[in-house]
Amino acid sequence: MKNPWTTELWRMLALFGFSFLAGSLIGQAQLFLIIVLVACLLWHLYYIHQLRQWLNSKGKFHPPQGRGLWREIFDQLYRLQKGKRARKKKLTRFLSRFKESTSAMPDATVVLDHAWQIQWMNTAAKTLLDLKPKKDIGQYITNFIRHPRFKAYLNVGDFTQAIEFQSSMATQAFLSIRIVPYGKNQCLLVARDITRLKQLEEMRQDFIANISHELRTPLTVLNGYLETMIDDDNDSLNSWQPILQSMEQQTTRMKNIVADLLMLSHLENSPSLNGGSHVSVPALLASIGDDAQALSGDKQHIISLDVDPQLCLTGVENELYSIFSNLIFNAVRYTPAKGKISIRWYKKSTGEAHFEVQDEGIGISSDDITRLTERFYRVDVGRSRDMGGTGLGLAIVKHALLRHNTQLHIKSKVGKGSRFMCDFPTIRGIKKLP
Ligand code: ADP
Repeated sequence: MKNPWTTELWRMLALFGFSFLAGSLIGQAQLFLIIVLVACLLWHLYYIHQLRQWLNSKGKFHPPQGRGLWREIFDQLYRLQKGKRARKKKLTRFLSRFKESTSAMPDATVVLDHAWQIQWMNTAAKTLLDLKPKKDIGQYITNFIRHPRFKAYLNVGDFTQAIEFQSSMATQAFLSIRIVPYGKNQCLLVARDITRLKQLEEMRQDFIANISHELRTPLTVLNGYLETMIDDDNDSLNSWQPILQSMEQQTTRMKNIVADLLMLSHLENSPSLNGGSHVSVPALLASIGDDAQALSGDKQHIISLDVDPQLCLTGVENELYSIFSNLIFNAVRYTPAKGKISIRWYKKSTGEAHFEVQDEGIGISSDDITRLTERFYRVDVGRSRDMGGTGLGLAIVKHALLRHNTQLHIKSKVGKGSRFMCDFPTIRGIKKLP
């Protein structure tokens, strides 16, 4: 295909050449050239005028029809206009589909800019977050979601997890809110109503608490009678002794499970711990250390205590007892005879109070470590039962530690031993005894 620009150039040259020759024949070459030049100028001015008119109409109409180079220009403009229209149509269709789907979503979705100002919201945001689509665009989201946990969530800027809290609006709904950053300095806020979930969770916790409570009394009575019968010197019961002892062992096991379940539901239902009482951790560890030695019995574990005698905590004594005793007794249970168990309690240079129990026991594989704090999760169920375990110890430890603003860290190698650690933060009011 010929280049229209060169065609046009040749045509003009031919026109100028022809008019020059024709003008020369009658001795008016200059006049002929001027006439052709003016005609060319007017021709181009006409099409420039047409183009300007079309641009002023903002491309609403088809571009004008042209000739020569101008036909090529107008055709190209027409193609551009057609492409733009098709893209616009596609985008509009996509946008309306996006709006329809987000409107149908039961979760509130709000688009926020880098300053947490509202840019857009879906229909559910009106009911769930009480936002008004026209009025509230451009407002700060913190003017509407005023919960301190939400403000702290935005300030900290770690959006890997959602936060949950009860809304202060009339609905009093439980909300789960998550921020999802995307694009350039844009964020999507997704809010979900989890009231029903929370109710079910509460029902589950209440059910476990109630059933454990109901079982406790009959089990205590049963266990009491069995103990009396075992201690009875009556000869007629002699042949029953092995059966009675097995029954007493099983009821004791059930009593322990019920006690652990009650402790766990108490920890789950308790509000987060503010303050607490002064707990002498060194005295607590000394007493648990003695009990651990008694539990070890014939196995003669070498239990060492390296404890800062002045380092204490502000917390709940029986919860701290559960934490330390579960970890220490586990070390005794899962370490072969004569193995070393070391207990350490000291203040770190960073100010936190560090507790750790290290054993030379059977160890735990990395796959099991991640699931260890789940209720009733045991690496070896038979072994745990033989050791008198309930499978709830580490779940209790996890929840009690959370209430004391800390977490459990586990390091272990199968066949080599395990290390259970936690760091109590300085806000726990660690005090040195005078
Ligand atoms: P259990 O009552 O069965 O001991 P826990 O919740 O205390 O329940 O512990 C869960 C499981 O973790 C145990 O069954 C055991 O398999 C494993 N475990 C806990 N502590 C240790 C340890 N010190 N060494 C090896 N395994 C351990």
